Amino acid sequence: MTLRRISVAVLMAASIAPVAEAYLKFAVTVDGSVVTPRWSRTPVRYFVNDAGVPEVSGVDLQAAVSRAARSWEDVATSAIAFEFGGFTGAGPVDEDGITTVGFQSRPDLPGVLGATELTIDVATGALVEADIFLNSQFVWSVSPGGRSDRFDVESIVLHELGHLLGLSHSGIGETETASDGRRVIAAGAVMFPIAFSPGSVDGRRLQRDDVAGASDLYPDRGFSQATGSLSGRVVSDGRGVLGAHVLAFHLESGVLVGGFTINGQGEFAIAGLDPGPHVIRVEPIDDADVDSFFGEDDRIDTGFRAGYLDTLVFVRQGGHAGPVEIRVNPR
Ligand SMILES: [Zn+2]
Repeated sequence: MTLRRISVAVLMAASIAPVAEAYLKFAVTVDGSVVTPRWSRTPVRYFVNDAGVPEVSGVDLQAAVSRAARSWEDVATSAIAFEFGGFTGAGPVDEDGITTVGFQSRPDLPGVLGATELTIDVATGALVEADIFLNSQFVWSVSPGGRSDRFDVESIVLHELGHLLGLSHSGIGETETASDGRRVIAAGAVMFPIAFSPGSVDGRRLQRDDVAGASDLYPDRGFSQATGSLSGRVVSDGRGVLGAHVLAFHLESGVLVGGFTINGQGEFAIAGLDPGPHVIRVEPIDDADVDSFFGEDDRIDTGFRAGYLDTLVFVRQGGHAGPVEIRVNPR
């Protein structure tokens, strides 16, 4: 079995330079075709490192992981299931075949609150191991209402479990520039790559974009029948745009679900849309680093002006709308 290890991090706001997206799945190339890594069977069995940090014991950590796991399991249109295997002394990022969550001191990663490392069987795209660490260089809390100046364990673990399942980052969020970097003022997705400020527990609840992403990866009976999907292309000057953030806004409910164009043809696909009329907006990534969504080698196009599809899209229950073509203009 040939394995590949990839790593994704959640950043504290201050370390972020300018960039945005909706839910995004990881992609690996297997025999020349692109597949999304996912667990081939559930429940996903995980272990928790028993070493705590000040104010958060190993038992506290396990309870927070368990609550975050339940939030993903509670997605009605998804078949996700987790199983706690027990406590372990194994380090959270050892590549040992055991999926482990734990604290780790990483002074070498000053802006990184936590990260997930995925081990993928490159022959099949199956996930075989995933490890999550929270950086003990920061101060943490599991207090039910949050603690000022401390980061919330459950919120960050909820985000990292999304990576563990195979989700990449979502672009649904807004930041503003602060004296020390960027601050999140609204996140429409737990998978937005920048964390809320210390003290906040706003990241404990999955949003509709997260639900759509999780259900797209692990659909339960009823997901594709209950919702609809949309596909299409984003083009500028007749050429496909890579890395454009595409947002579908439901006109009646206001629910926002997003996706990205993922190749040089500018193609995108979004699943998990409620039936009804949608406005489709396209924008360049602008509220986080491009690197937090795509690999550094990808040539992401941010040199265009935000625009809209010139017609409404009507999504039917169980139906597929499109393909649509959205034209944008260079900046
Ligand atoms: Zn992340």
